Amino acid sequence: MSSKSVAREADDILLASDMIRLGARLQVLQAETSLSYDRLARLYREIQQASPPKGMLPYSVDWFMTWLPNIHATLFYSHYLYLREHTDSTNIRALINAYRLYLEQADAGRAGEPNDEPVLSFTRAWMLLRFFDSDMLQLASCTQCSGGFISHAYEPVENYICAICRPPPRAGKTRAATARKSRNSVRALS
Ligand SMILES: [Zn+2]
Repeated sequence: MSSKSVAREADDILLASDMIRLGARLQVLQAETSLSYDRLARLYREIQQASPPKGMLPYSVDWFMTWLPNIHATLFYSHYLYLREHTDSTNIRALINAYRLYLEQADAGRAGEPNDEPVLSFTRAWMLLRFFDSDMLQLASCTQCSGGFISHAYEPVENYICAICRPPPRAGKTRAATARKSRNSVRALS
């Protein structure tokens, strides 16, 4: 094995470990590193103290259009775009760092329930970027708050109103407060 491939392997192990700690599924690790399935599965078990979950990745684009997921995904994506523009992070490093920023903010907006799963999982965040890459999603500018929000590609956006400016009636008080915080972050970044 050449020294170059040893360095590459070390990088891949670090990268995979970071992603596993953030909750990445095995399919994501396979796509982003050149490590074998067996090595990734071993690494996963070592870090998470559990076997990697089986089954398909969450592939639904529509999930990102529902109210709370839309706000959380938009928050994550704003961080991602910011890091891509203002740092020299590679795609995957920008994804990891943006997801960490998202977790910090999602946690801060969630008083008293710190052990809940985040609304946007790391694997969903990864899928989101793939959906953007394959032109299935776009950012639509809200006509009321002018924030950029995730929406279906090719959908008319002239009269677009975002999930924060027009929340569904069932959205409770806590959720509204989280949404307001997210709006400030989305604005600060856009
Ligand atoms: Zn709005």
